Parts: sequence; C-alpha cells; structure tokens
Amino acid sequence: MLQLAPHYNALMKTPLPQTTDGSVTLQPLLQLSAAELSRWLKDRGFQPWYAKAIRRWILFKRAESFESMSDLPKQLREQLTAAFQPLASEVTKSLLASDGTRKLLLKMWDGEDIECVMIPDHDRRTACISTQVGCGMACVFCASGLNGVMRNLAPGEILEQLVRLRNLLPAGERLSHIVVMGMGEPLANLDNLLAALEDATAKDGLGIGARHITISTVGLPIKIRKLAESGKQYSLAVSLHAPTEELRSKIVPTSDKMGLHNILQAADDYFKRTGRQVTFEYVVLRDINDRPLEANQLATLLKGRGAHINLIPFNEVEGLPYRRPTDERLNRFVEILREAGLFVHVRKRKGSDINAACGQLRRQSHIEKQAVT
Ligand code: SAH
Repeated sequence: MLQLAPHYNALMKTPLPQTTDGSVTLQPLLQLSAAELSRWLKDRGFQPWYAKAIRRWILFKRAESFESMSDLPKQLREQLTAAFQPLASEVTKSLLASDGTRKLLLKMWDGEDIECVMIPDHDRRTACISTQVGCGMACVFCASGLNGVMRNLAPGEILEQLVRLRNLLPAGERLSHIVVMGMGEPLANLDNLLAALEDATAKDGLGIGARHITISTVGLPIKIRKLAESGKQYSLAVSLHAPTEELRSKIVPTSDKMGLHNILQAADDYFKRTGRQVTFEYVVLRDINDRPLEANQLATLLKGRGAHINLIPFNEVEGLPYRRPTDERLNRFVEILREAGLFVHVRKRKGSDINAACGQLRRQSHIEKQAVT
C-alpha cells in the first residue's frame, strides 16, 4: 500500500487513485509537489535534490517512463517505477481537425474523462486546458455544464494536460500559450490552478510566460480579487454574455449571486492591480443576445473602460436549441461596438469538425457509451 502525504486528499479534493476492486494503484507522480517528492526520496535514502531532476525529466525533457531517465541511479529508477506513474492519464481519443487543431480526451485514474486541445496558429502553439470534471456554472448553451460538476482537478492533473499536449509537438517545439478555457470554472478551483501554473511558468518546468496565459472565468468577484493578489501577470478573460442583469441571469443562471456591477468592479480592480487589460467574452446566440439592442446596451455598459471584447459566435451543441447568429447580425453587432470606440475581436472557429468547443467531445463520448450499454 502506498504511503501518501496525510494532507494529500484534502488538498486536492480529489479521490485517491483506486482501481475498481478498491486497491490503490500507482500514484501519479505529478500529483506530488517537488517538496513532497523530496521527502519521499529522503525517506528512502536518496538525495532529495533528485526530485528536481525527476520533475525536469517529465516537464522539460518529455520522459514518459522512469526507465528513460538515464542519469538517475538504476535503483532509484526501479523504486520510482514500483511506486509511481510518470503520466497517469490515458489518452482515450486523439482527434486531428483539418485546421491542425488537436483534441485529446484523457481518462483520469478514477475513470473520469477530461478534454484538452492544442491549437496551432502560425508560430503559436496554444494549449486549452480543463480545471474541473464537468462544470457547476450551468451556462445554458455550454456542453460542459450539462451534468454539473463532478470534481476539481488536482494540480498534477491540470499540469498533465499540458505535458500530454506538449509531447505531441515535434522535438524542439514548445507550447507558447495557455488558455484556461476547457471544461470547468477555473476560479472555482483557483488554488490547484495556481499550483499547476507555477510549474507551467517555471524555467525548468514548461517555461511559458505568465503573460501568455489567459484564465477565463464566468466572473467570481472574490476569486478575481484573489487572483490579482497572487501577484502574477496572467491575462484575465471574463465571460459576460449579456449586457443586462436580466438577460444574463437567463443565459448564466448562477449569475444572480455574482451581480454584473460586482463583476465589472472586480475586473477594473484586476486591471488596476496587475496592469493587465481584461477581455470580456460574449458568446453570440441567435435572437437571444445578438440584436442591435444588446449591442448598444453592451457598448453603454463597457464604454470608458478601454475594454477589449471577444465575440464568440456560438458553436452549436447537439441537443441544445441555440443557434449561431447570422453573418449580417454579427457584423452589425461588431459595427455598433466599434462605433462606440470599443476594441472588438471575433473569435475564429477552430477545430469545428472535431467537436472542439468546451465539453463537446466528452459529451459525445458519453452519448456513444450510453448507446453501447
Ligand atoms: N468557465 C469559464 C471557462 C469556459 S470556456 C468561463 O465561463 O469563462 C471559455 C469560453 O467559451 C466561455 O466564455 C464560455 O462561455 C464559452 N463557450 C462554452 N461553450 C461554448 C459554445 N458551445 N460556443 C461558444 N462558446 C462557448
């Protein structure tokens, strides 16, 4: 039986790795912090500084087995192999879209599926990662939230998505950007996300610049402030989706607790504190929030903030009644915002032939499983 750090389970809020018969399986190595791994090594008579070397092998040198860590003593490699898995998830689907977007469905040790995506664009290699299994925010148009949230992902599980995606790149290529826009509400799992991003930004980790990392949130004001206080230079994107409280509570039913005014205030504070411009995301849904009325209301709401708005034409989700806006409506919407002096960007559609939008692949996979059983 493996000895786990006593606070392990409470800290991660995730189940211990168990097989279906209840026995504990090999522990995912990335689940241990460098300090915990040092302790494990020390307890077995190895130099604690090997912890850095082991993590570097996985995070930097793309090792997928302990055996391949050629500069570690053989005995250590054997003991590591008997106790840990270097990468604990299983890639159960890997889909390549015609535009080069690659989506992975990963099975975690408790059998839960999560999604992550690699989006190549010119010299950028952007990883889109998940922070939770499912999502508790219940945005009416989003596939991730259809069955609620199952659990938070541990720091190692968040990190592992980046490693898996990076390992698909040709040797010498690295991830340049991260968008935390996969399944889940990142700020509802902020501590674990911040822990994972420490390794993502570390020079001997994945070496990705903090300014190249965007965290997208439904808008939890208290957590936005906590993120600002972390002192990091992460970019923040706030999913607004509606210009009025009334419409927002229909599209984002958990919105009532947040309050548009509070969200905007927290976004302003984030800018003041970090100097980082906040982007507002707005999923454009036909006949729901895409009329000139909403464009004018949005312009009034955001005027004077020097705001950047990212319009996301809805990616249609099977079984949901929402539709993409017509080109004509979308163009008019953009025009009104630009005339009001706002910076508008319309998000390009990526990986549409592989269900690349939030939670779609996992949902598709569940539908297929249900059809089989
Ligand atoms: N919970 C975070 C991350 C969600 S994913 C948040 O709310 O910001 C990132 C963005 O994609 C969010 O703005 C989300 O609302 C949007 N999104 C989710 N499903 C979508 C779909 N089917 N089409 C277009 N945008 C979608």
